[in-house]
Amino acid sequence: MTDTFKHKGLRQQLVKIVESKGIKDQNVLDAIGKIPRHLFMDSGFLDHAYQDKAFPIAANQTISQPYTVAYQTELLQISPGDKILEIGTGSGYQTAVLLEMGAKVYSIERQQELFKKTSKFLPSIGYRAKKLVFGDGYKGMPEEAPFKGIIVTAGAPGVPKALLSQLEIGGRLVIPLGKKVQTMTLFIRKSEKDFEKHEFGEFRFVPLLEDKN
Ligand code: SAH
Repeated sequence: MTDTFKHKGLRQQLVKIVESKGIKDQNVLDAIGKIPRHLFMDSGFLDHAYQDKAFPIAANQTISQPYTVAYQTELLQISPGDKILEIGTGSGYQTAVLLEMGAKVYSIERQQELFKKTSKFLPSIGYRAKKLVFGDGYKGMPEEAPFKGIIVTAGAPGVPKALLSQLEIGGRLVIPLGKKVQTMTLFIRKSEKDFEKHEFGEFRFVPLLEDKN
């Protein structure tokens, strides 16, 4: 698995595209410019790795579109050292973006095949999450809570209560809400009981599934 000048060049073009769509956080753009996205995809898709598109990965899932990854990450407002929980590890690309920005990352995936593959792959290219867990993201990771940020990378029909309760005061939950189409939604925890809700544009994600099969 290599990262060539050609890949690096394509990646810089991708950064420009994502920036032109409105992403301003320079640390997010730098992360996209650094991470070899082609290594996160099955070989047949190598040529497509630097288009701003979602693509199929194992277990009928997708690697999110770079713009979507950037959009969600920007909403999290990450500083180095922040403790972040990700729901839906998938290919690990979003995980790598968070790690590249200096976050301490905890991530949950419910598809065993993907969990196994990504758990091996991420450290093989130098990305070390604090914890990768095989399980149900609806429950969050109570043993590691509270989190500064929580990012859900699958479309959720509703807000899992456990995730809100695992945010620290001032913490941010970024979650695409809706069935067929999702509205990007940000919750900020203002106090033990109060949450501020902000709604953004529409996106399409694979569903956040409740029961493991
Ligand atoms: N962040 C990923 C996006 C993968 S798509 C990436 O950058 O590649 C969404 C992922 O969420 C899929 O891998 C899917 O299996 C996972 N998922 C769906 N429901 C889940 C749940 N309840 N708990 C944890 N992961 C879930």
